[in-house]
Parts: sequence; structure tokens; C-alpha cells
Amino acid sequence: MEIRKVGVIGAGTMGHGIAHAAALGGFEVALFDISEEVLDRALASIQRDLAKGVERGKVAAEDMEAALARITGTLTLEAVADEADLLVEAVPEKLGLKQDLFRQLQELAPEGAIFATNTSSLSIAAIAGVLDDPGRVIGAHFFNPVHIMKLLELVVHEGTRDEVLAAVQGFGAAIGKTCITVRDFPGFATSRLGVCLGMEAIRMVEQGVASPEDIDTAMVLGYRHPIGPLKLTDLVGLDVRLHIGEYLAEALGNPAFKPPQLMRDMVAEGRLGKKTGRGFYEWG
Ligand code: NAD
Repeated sequence: MEIRKVGVIGAGTMGHGIAHAAALGGFEVALFDISEEVLDRALASIQRDLAKGVERGKVAAEDMEAALARITGTLTLEAVADEADLLVEAVPEKLGLKQDLFRQLQELAPEGAIFATNTSSLSIAAIAGVLDDPGRVIGAHFFNPVHIMKLLELVVHEGTRDEVLAAVQGFGAAIGKTCITVRDFPGFATSRLGVCLGMEAIRMVEQGVASPEDIDTAMVLGYRHPIGPLKLTDLVGLDVRLHIGEYLAEALGNPAFKPPQLMRDMVAEGRLGKKTGRGFYEWG
């Protein structure tokens, strides 16, 4: 299975980054969104991010031009699916939406095309289950900002074919990512560990064990984490993490993921982290 053309569906935070990384890696890219405004913004962001890369000496000027020439924005699903070897969806985190999209794409894409989902929490098997051939589906969980973050978490459900995994591993390597392979289990590897640590850190603030700054410093200097769990929770958004925590507590039957009362109170007060200017830290 050779990947040459990549179709990206959803041109938001993740989709535009995936298109950027794929085009810079030498792949033809069609980027789709339902909103023309979002699509225009996405193409402008890709250009701006690539230009920053050139300024910093990370990207050669001719590579930037070649990458931009390889990306086509489109408002039709037919165009994004046409001749695609790999389709990556990055639409909002709603199971029904992703299932509907894959059902439609099944009618439009070549028979051999791989269907990847960038879901950060949904079951890959549940998304794949709506297709005639679920074996072509894999989770391809990128991290934000996609053009900078090196990790690509590949999530295989029981039916994902080996050659599908191998092809997407090859794609990941070609765009400079380090791939890990994880079974389709709630929280995969990244969210399960990251959210567990975050919840425990919040419980420690609640119990008055130490200040947020000191808890973060414990992990940064004591365990060489690049960022502490509370600052990271502020960056992700307390509301977003609260939902993931509730879902994982239920799905894994593990109370360690249960959002602490302090977190619920902060969300109720609108202290959501960086995006609202206040969380565990004050953001200027
Ligand atoms: P986003 O809201 O920034 O972008 C989603 C885009 O999908 C929007 O541009 C929207 O116009 C478009 N869209 C909505 N309905 C559509 C449809 N029917 N067809 C095509 N496009 C449609 O969201 P995001 O943050 O990029 O997240 C996308 C996916 O990636 C989610 O599943 C999310 O869980 C996952 N994810 C997000 C992050 C993150 O840090 N933001 C990290 C990893 C994974």
C-alpha cells in the first residue's frame, strides 16, 4: 500500500497542522472543511507557520514553496476523496459525526484507501464499525501543534490490517514523526497517563500538599518532565480535561480519573486555564 495522496477532512486546529506536515513530507494533500472561512484561515496559517520555519532555518525556502504547491483546499468531499491513498479525519470529537463522515467517504474514496481518525478518545472500533471494510481503519492521533510535535500515536482496533498499520507507520516516518502503536483501549497510552497524573496533581492541591508551582516543579526537576501537570492542565483547558476524566473513570472503572471537586468548582467559576486567563496560574 503506497501512500501518495492524503486527504484531510476538517481544517481546524489539528487538520491544518496535519495538512502542513504531510505536504512538507512530500505528499499531495487535499484539505477539506465545510466552512470556506475556516479553510482560508487554515491555508493562511500553514503559509505563516512554514514562513516561520524558514525564518528559523528549520525549513528551506524552496521546500516551503514546494509544500504549498502540494496543498489544495476544497469544499467538496468528492475532491478530498478523489485518488486518496490515506484519508485523515480531524472533525469535532463526536462519534456520530465521524461515523457519518466515514460512511460518506466510503462511497467516494478508492477501494484501497486507508481511513484514519485523529480522535483523542473515541473507540476506533466504533468508528470503523460503520464501514463495509473496518480493517482499513486506524487511529492516527497527532499532537498540537502538529508541525512541531514529534509523536504520532497509532491506535489499532482488533480488525485493523497489518498492512494498514505498516503503511501509516511509513507515512509517519516520512513526515518526521515517531510512531507508537497502541491497542484500541480508552485513553490510548497518552491520555491515560497524562490525565491520571493531572487528576492526582489537582487532588494534591485540594489536599493542601503543596502549591501548584511546587507540584509542577517536583515533576519538572525531579522527573524531567518538560512541563508540570498543572500548567499542562491549564494549557489544555480544565473543561476539556474534566470531560476526558469523567469518560475515563467510567470506561476504565478507575476512580483515579474522577475529576476532583476543586476542578469542578474551578470549571463552574470559569477558571478554565490559559484560554480564560486563569486556572492554576494567572495568564497575562
Ligand atoms: P477544531 O474545532 O479546531 O476543528 C474541527 C474542524 O472540523 C472545524 O474547522 C470545523 O469547521 C470542521 N467540521 C465540522 N464538521 C465537519 C464536517 N461534517 N465535515 C468536515 N469538517 C467539519 O477541532 P480540533 O481541535 O482540530 O479537533 C479535531 C479532532 O482532533 C477531534 O477529534 C479532537 O479530539 C482531535 N484532537 C485534538 C487535539 C487538540 O489539541 N486540539 C489533539 C489531538 C486530537
